[in-house]
Amino acid sequence: MDLRIWKHPILEFKREKPVYIYLNGKKIKAYEGETIAAALYASGIKIYSRSVKYHRPRGFFCGIGKCSSCLMRVNGIPHVRTCVTLVKDGMKIEYEKGRGEPPVTTTEIKVEEEKLDTDLVVVGGGPAGLSAAITAANLGVDVYLIDENPRPGGQLIKQTHKFFGSKDNYAGVRGVEIAKILLRELQKAEVKWVLNASVVGYYGNKRSTLAVVQNNHKLIEVNTRDIIVASGAQENMLPFPNNDLPGVYGAGGVQTLMNVYGIKPGNNALIVGAGNVGLIVGYQLIQAGVNVKMVVEAMPKIGGYLVHASKLRRLGVPILTRHSISAAKGKDHVEGAIIVELDEKWQPIEGTEQEIEVDLICLAVGLTPSSELLFQAGCEKAYIPELGGPVAIHNEDLETTIDGMYLAGDVSGIEEASTAMMEGRITGANVAIELGKEKIQAEKIREESFRHLSALRESPFSERVLKGKEKVWRMWRELK
Ligand SMILES: Cc1cc2nc3c(=O)[nH]c(=O)nc-3n(C[C@H](O)[C@H](O)[C@H](O)COP(=O)(O)OP(=O)(O)OC[C@H]3O[C@@H](n4cnc5c(N)ncnc54)[C@H](O)[C@@H]3O)c2cc1C
Repeated sequence: MDLRIWKHPILEFKREKPVYIYLNGKKIKAYEGETIAAALYASGIKIYSRSVKYHRPRGFFCGIGKCSSCLMRVNGIPHVRTCVTLVKDGMKIEYEKGRGEPPVTTTEIKVEEEKLDTDLVVVGGGPAGLSAAITAANLGVDVYLIDENPRPGGQLIKQTHKFFGSKDNYAGVRGVEIAKILLRELQKAEVKWVLNASVVGYYGNKRSTLAVVQNNHKLIEVNTRDIIVASGAQENMLPFPNNDLPGVYGAGGVQTLMNVYGIKPGNNALIVGAGNVGLIVGYQLIQAGVNVKMVVEAMPKIGGYLVHASKLRRLGVPILTRHSISAAKGKDHVEGAIIVELDEKWQPIEGTEQEIEVDLICLAVGLTPSSELLFQAGCEKAYIPELGGPVAIHNEDLETTIDGMYLAGDVSGIEEASTAMMEGRITGANVAIELGKEKIQAEKIREESFRHLSALRESPFSERVLKGKEKVWRMWRELK
């Protein structure tokens, strides 16, 4: 079985050299540049792990290293996130039992160490992190950009649609193209980047120290003066029976499979959530050759832009408002879903259940900021529903309650790539100002970016976010 897409209306998948990996001894063909999880999925393997207590099958979910669904033992290393680990010829992959076993001998794993010293570390290479790093480096700051994915660009590298926003922020340009533009700027600004590397811990002393793990076996200690955390967000889960079956995936995970690695995620799909993400992913699934059976939305009206909804409707995809999923069906993989109509109190209306035959349930029910590093560092936090949940308390300048620690993008509140880029620029300029580099130019960039950010937030879609931001800024003032 080969689920790789070879023809796509927008994307071209250039597959690198073929290699062979071994899953519990079974030889599997993969291509260099693919992650382990993507390569396994392409060959029809959809179970990667089992739950510890009941041994329920677990599959792909987020596709960007933020959940634990795809943990496997790789070349003797336990708990490897296979969705962000690239294949290598001869790689030995094994299913883990229970909680997994420690490495048998230490010689199995070659541990490497490195120490780095810099002015600024940017954690995360999405639109926010890239913009922050480019701005700071262009102003003369020594910058390291660290990202745990094998490719920089964050969410942008899977967005095949033309972005909304303003002309100054690449409106009308496809997300994948915006990523390429930012990467070229990053190279020009001579930012040093470290990929396949997770920032796993912060230790404050005279200067801040970050612990970074690269390629699962290299420990990098980075001493830095300032840190900008631009770690993005993770997808929300929805409670319903069998929501852990392989075949129930986050919308971003589905995009990663089909738009980054060119792998067909399923044949018949149900999309839960008619915000922009659900609608856009629905259209992209059709482009990848998947039959989208319907979109269900619990709210009385569609949350996303009408233009995205119309595209789907024109292709005959029904969008049912006041409907949701009440269960997934299947044993080792999704074989169907039950959908149900909801009343004004969001309660299922008895007798309205319908069973539909699908092998893919795509959840597009919102995102939660990835605040783990900020919280581990000790930043003061608050639960702000308008910003997507738990966030580090910050001010308008995106400073957290820890000196020298900033945040930007979705981790500061779920918004858009355009606002993420502006926040990135503001933090990059702020670090330069703090370090006394190119002060006049840095002040100019900061002011311009604030102006653009306010203009972007004038849209009615931003009202809620702005309310959340005002709450969190007030909290920062009260604390300081
Ligand atoms: C389907 C869809 C459609 C969208 N359409 C639009 C649109 O049309 N217009 C628009 O403006 N926005 C759009 N967005 C939103 C936009 O993509 C996000 O708001 C934006 O990507 C957020 O940028 P970010 O840099 O904050 O985070 P991300 O893009 O998520 O990047 C975060 C990065 O941080 C890395 N990271 C996280 N933790 C660590 C760690 N501990 N160590 C190292 N690296 C780490 C991750 O690997 C990731 O690369 C869309 C989003 C989706 C899902």
